Formats: sequence, structure tokens, C-alpha cells
Amino acid sequence: MSEDCIFCQIVAGEIPGRTVYEDDDVLAFLDANPLAEGHTLVVPKEHHERLNDVPADEAESLYSTLHEIVPAVEAAVDAPATTVAFNNGEEAGQEVPHVHGHVVPRFEGDGGGPIHGIFGSRPELSDDELDEIEAAIDERV
Ligand code: 5GP
Ligand code: ZN
Repeated sequence: MSEDCIFCQIVAGEIPGRTVYEDDDVLAFLDANPLAEGHTLVVPKEHHERLNDVPADEAESLYSTLHEIVPAVEAAVDAPATTVAFNNGEEAGQEVPHVHGHVVPRFEGDGGGPIHGIFGSRPELSDDELDEIEAAIDERV
């Protein structure tokens, strides 16, 4: 546990959270400042800052919880869709440095957009640059 981490404090029961799911590895609770009714956060119980830091077994639990939570949230608020996203790192807008997946119910005409909408201009990449990027990622996984 990280003492000054708000999500570790929720996991430890030191501050209240509206818990919707809990198992040995993962907690899911309602976002305190929801973007839509039913906005839920899914977190590993262990403190890890970013997705990159989560060990494989905890990552599996995290994904399998998301897999269960998404249809449950949609059904609970009668949403036809959800945006499921991680702000992974400060530059991506992550404010709470304890990895968390957002499950945000979406409704027709809700005024939101796809995640593509959070970006401005797109890079123009040549085939050579794309080949380099493809290789650079491929050799690291
Ligand atoms: P981030 O910007 O780090 O991806 O998202 C952090 C989220 O945590 C925000 O949506 C914010 O509303 C939520 N949040 C911040 N503090 C608390 C809290 O004390 N309790 C709960 N339930 N959610 C919180
Ligand atoms: Zn934490």
C-alpha cells in the first residue's frame, strides 16, 4: 500500500468507496465524479502506478474483472455501450497514480465522442517510418 494514495485508502477501507465488485486482486467502485451514471473504476488492489507496472497475474485478474464489469454496468444503467479506457501516465491525463480502468456508460446523443476525439492532428508517417515503428514494437514484446 502507498500511504498517500487515495485508491489504496479505498482498497484498505480507510476512506469510503461505493464498491461494486471485489476479489483477492481487484476492486471496482463508482467514480466519485462520474462522467455518466454508472461510471466505474477498476483497480488492482496492489499499488502500481501504471499498467506497465502491473505483474502478469494481476493484469489477468484486472482484465477478467473488466470483462465481467462492463456488461454488468451496461445492464445496471441500461446503457447500449461503454467507453473503457486507461489514462496510462501523467502525460495521458492520469491524475491518480494508481492504475485504474474507467468504464463509462455511453448513450446515444450523450455528447461524448470516440477516444479518437481526444487527439488533435495526426502524424503523417511514411511507409519506412511505419516499418521502423512496427519492428521497434515487435522486438520488445
Ligand atoms: P484519472 O484522471 O487519474 O484517469 O482518473 C481519476 C478518477 O478518479 C477521476 O475520474 C475522479 O473522478 C476519480 N476519483 C478521484 N478521487 C476519487 C475518490 O476519492 N473516490 C472515488 N470513488 N473516485 C475518485
Ligand atoms: Zn495506490
